[in-house]
Amino acid sequence: MRLHPTLSLAPQPRETPASYCSRVARKHGRTAQQFAGDCGIRFQDIVVGNEDAVSALADACGVDGAHFSCSTVRRGADRIFTIGNEQLTSGSLRRLQLRACPQCLLEDRQGPDGELAPYMRVEWLIDAVRVCPHHSVPLDVISVGSHQKHDFAWHLNRGEDLARVTPAHREAGALIRYIFDRLAGRADVHWLDRLPLYAAIRSAEIVGAAITRGVKASWNSLSDEDWHAAGISGFELFTGGDRAFRTYLAGVQRAHDQSSWGGKVVFGQLYNFLAQDARDAAYEPIRGIMRSHILETVQIPAGDVVLGVKLEQRRLHSIHSAARETGLHPKPLRRKLVAFGIIDSLADHLTDDRVVFEADKALAALGSIKTSMSLEGAAVYLNIPRPHNRTVLAPPFITAISVPSPGGGHRPAFLQRDLDSLLARLTCSASDRGLDDVGYVWLGEASKRCVMPLVDVLMLLFEKKLTQVRLNPLERGFKAIQVNLKEVREHLHAPRSTLSLRDVERHLKASTQVVKALVDTGALCSSVQINRVSNLPSRVVLPEDMDLFMGTYVSLMGLARERGIHFRALKSQLDAAGITPAFEPNTIPATFYLRVQVGSPGRV
Ligand SMILES: [Zn+2]
Repeated sequence: MRLHPTLSLAPQPRETPASYCSRVARKHGRTAQQFAGDCGIRFQDIVVGNEDAVSALADACGVDGAHFSCSTVRRGADRIFTIGNEQLTSGSLRRLQLRACPQCLLEDRQGPDGELAPYMRVEWLIDAVRVCPHHSVPLDVISVGSHQKHDFAWHLNRGEDLARVTPAHREAGALIRYIFDRLAGRADVHWLDRLPLYAAIRSAEIVGAAITRGVKASWNSLSDEDWHAAGISGFELFTGGDRAFRTYLAGVQRAHDQSSWGGKVVFGQLYNFLAQDARDAAYEPIRGIMRSHILETVQIPAGDVVLGVKLEQRRLHSIHSAARETGLHPKPLRRKLVAFGIIDSLADHLTDDRVVFEADKALAALGSIKTSMSLEGAAVYLNIPRPHNRTVLAPPFITAISVPSPGGGHRPAFLQRDLDSLLARLTCSASDRGLDDVGYVWLGEASKRCVMPLVDVLMLLFEKKLTQVRLNPLERGFKAIQVNLKEVREHLHAPRSTLSLRDVERHLKASTQVVKALVDTGALCSSVQINRVSNLPSRVVLPEDMDLFMGTYVSLMGLARERGIHFRALKSQLDAAGITPAFEPNTIPATFYLRVQVGSPGRV
């Protein structure tokens, strides 16, 4: 059958083939179903976008079938429908009710086809299109029930005159304009473009509902109008892309006022939607952001599944989870983490669940604390007899760390690995000795027999200047290290070179300014020598003058290091004991004490 052009109608822009069939049928006083039958096709096939049925209809009406290529809803695989290149699902379409903009229909009637002109736009089949973006009025339902389903013109003819009712004004909003643009193939770039159309719409609505209603509320009671408002809010948020969505998620976390803490409990409905209701890969761009955000802010044990992905390795701990894993009490644990700089004290007001930190780093630090030792403990560990422990367990040989003290405050402690590496360094040139080797003594004895401070013997060893080093098999640790007296004495009598002022700075761990003041005031004897390299006169200090100075004075910092206490605490003790600094602060800008007043190295 082919209709004479005067018996047909011109298809309209974005008109669905079902609407077109319905209008031509109406022109012939038939229902859409009857008219399709007259053409030898089934109306239902036209409704579901069957290619052959649509071309047969176009042929019969003498129009180009390609006209409907972008206004036909086609059923594809996996419950996906398409309109043009855009994907939709049955849930994102509203096909049982026909809806239309009364103002659009009114304008249609002004044309030459009059009452037969009003037609169905394909966009009106999309559930989220609740308002006409051209007229800012809500779409009206023009068909209810299953009778003559999809027969647009038939329902329009039977329904009340839509034009008689003045429609309420309602803003269409950016989401609906976006849907129209995507269906029309207009290319305004938006973050949601990366999602299929149905997922873009649903994401905007779900996130919008979370924004407008909160993530904890039930969304079952939301009206059409509520979902419309939600779509606008959500779409606006995604205009800001990843960053805006993350900022929103962080805000939800801040507002969370329950003690329990985790992805699901904090993000409620939003989490449920992305975890259960939307296993669909189409939502992965949004799910991925939420997953990363959760992994970066919430402690998750290894093996847990976060939004569909199993976590192979724990990334974060909270104080709560770390306390459980390490067996430490949360309160001292929190203090330790602050002391190590792993968390900052800004976290003080947050509950144990909410304070999170990198698990690896923290556990390594906590592990070190667990094996750290006090000065006494370290001396036992390395087998250093008193009073030598204070000389050996001090810079430059080893540096103590500061760990939280059980009674509050901090105390110096030594990490086991530092102690191990100190011993390794002192014994690196040692070989096992036979018991019959003569001339070898342990370091304390060598210091005594050579009349040389232990620190100097240790320096020889530390700087690998001693080649004859043995380990006594009957002792362990530090006490086992033996040196050859003869070799130590050789170093004692070796001519010592003069020290430049730069060398003095290093020896005294003092600033250039302090050394200059010591030399200028004569507190440290110096002389001018011609430099052998530059041939210029320069000020030098003889080693014996340096020894004399170091035997006479000790700096506050040096003394604090020797005693293993904080310099402020030491200063208070000295002040309390009435011991005053050796120099006036306006002559020498550093605090030195007379050795005779404060005691020799090693004395407590
Ligand atoms: Zn309209």
